[in-house]
Amino acid sequence: MMTTIRTRFAPSPTGYIHVGNVRAALFPWLLARQQGGTFILRIEDTDRARFVPGAEGLILDTLEWLGLDWDEGPRRGGEYGPYHQSERLEIYRAWAQTLIDKGLAYADPYTPEQVQAFRDEARAAKKAFLYRDYRPENPPAWDGTQPLRFKVANPKRYTWHDPVMGELSAGPEALDDFILIKADGYPTYNFAHIVDDAEMHITHVIRGLEYISSIPRYLSLYEAFGLTPPVLACLPHIMAPDGKKKLGKRDGAKSVSDYRTDGILPEAMLNFLASMGWNDGTEQEIFSRDELIEKFSLSRVQKSGARFDEKRLLWMSGQWIRRLSLDDLYTRVSNPAGNRSSKQSAAASTYWPPAAAQASEDYKKRVLALAQDRLKTLADLPQLTNYFFEEPTRDDSLIETNKQLKKLSPGERQALMRTAHDSLAALTDWTPESIQQRLNDLLEKTSQKPGILFSLVRIAITWAPFSPQLNDTLALLGKETTLKRLASF
Ligand code: GLU
Repeated sequence: MMTTIRTRFAPSPTGYIHVGNVRAALFPWLLARQQGGTFILRIEDTDRARFVPGAEGLILDTLEWLGLDWDEGPRRGGEYGPYHQSERLEIYRAWAQTLIDKGLAYADPYTPEQVQAFRDEARAAKKAFLYRDYRPENPPAWDGTQPLRFKVANPKRYTWHDPVMGELSAGPEALDDFILIKADGYPTYNFAHIVDDAEMHITHVIRGLEYISSIPRYLSLYEAFGLTPPVLACLPHIMAPDGKKKLGKRDGAKSVSDYRTDGILPEAMLNFLASMGWNDGTEQEIFSRDELIEKFSLSRVQKSGARFDEKRLLWMSGQWIRRLSLDDLYTRVSNPAGNRSSKQSAAASTYWPPAAAQASEDYKKRVLALAQDRLKTLADLPQLTNYFFEEPTRDDSLIETNKQLKKLSPGERQALMRTAHDSLAALTDWTPESIQQRLNDLLEKTSQKPGILFSLVRIAITWAPFSPQLNDTLALLGKETTLKRLASF
């Protein structure tokens, strides 16, 4: 019988969820969706010292925003729950008891100070510290107040196949008597995730590279339980933009929900996350969710670190914005939280500039149609369109920082805008084409370069660093507004 694939994402609610965390959700999700398998979400909340209230809600909202739906877990339920580790303490105790019964787990009698003394002793002897070298001969019975340790009965070499990293192997020095259950009664990650993956019938464990050095220990524990391990895959690190160190908060490893607030589309975020460490072997860069599901494979995940490049994310975001229909874009810009706005949400309430509140839907859609190709994120909208809704504020720095415009005297600039005003005023038919024609005529008439004349008209009309095409902008603003702004330059 063929087993169906069951993958999982097992976040710890210890803070915000950054790009590295979400990639560790995306890849197992892709595999499950591709293979008609099941994707499970499990909350690993046994580290009470690092627990952050509210973090879980943010993780769930982020996954939902990205469309990484889970079949079992919080907000869904499922056959193998509970899906919060803190609600599974009895299960871990029962599994621990089987190890105690086999003589493969024992109570740790030492105080933290004693363990530190062993470490110091090992360091003085220039030896790697291994707890098992100090294993007590006659440990006391475990009463639940001491840490419970795993006993590595038979330290040996393990070899295993990681579908991403290849053939791996580690000697007995990688094995030790690690803690299964802490003195506070909560299991360690090392123990709990093995129990849960087994109980939840996980077939593929996909997680960050930071776990790779612990895998021999996990293998020794699987063996102690008589279990066949699932496929164990580690994903390459995500590196800072300089490619030299792991991405940290300082390098822009911000919360994925901040990107949402910044107006990055979920399609772009998903595409970007997938591209960090994976490609399909071609030059293709833009992948839809369905294409990712179709093309993803663990064997094409790269071994070496994947560079985090925020510029690339912005580029992808712009690409995805262009692909939306105008109505879809309009909805996303106008009502980003969708019909879930009652929930606490990382989405802005609207991306329109405040002055757009009075404008009609029809006018806003026409503005949006012009801006669509220039938006990198939805949050760029106010800067790119505000002057369609209210009189812009004069900002002379736009002229002073423009090499070409700076060369003209204020008088010359005013004369140019007066000429532009008069010749556009004479235009009876106000369409993008006729306006373009008139602007071209103006170039000849004034013997100016487009870099000067068109830039100056753009600034006089918008007082913004960017705008959609000039003729389209003037056409939509209307003749009256255009002339008024040129006249008051
Ligand atoms: N709770 C672990 C983490 O957030 C999960 C690692 C795993 O996927 O097993 O890093």
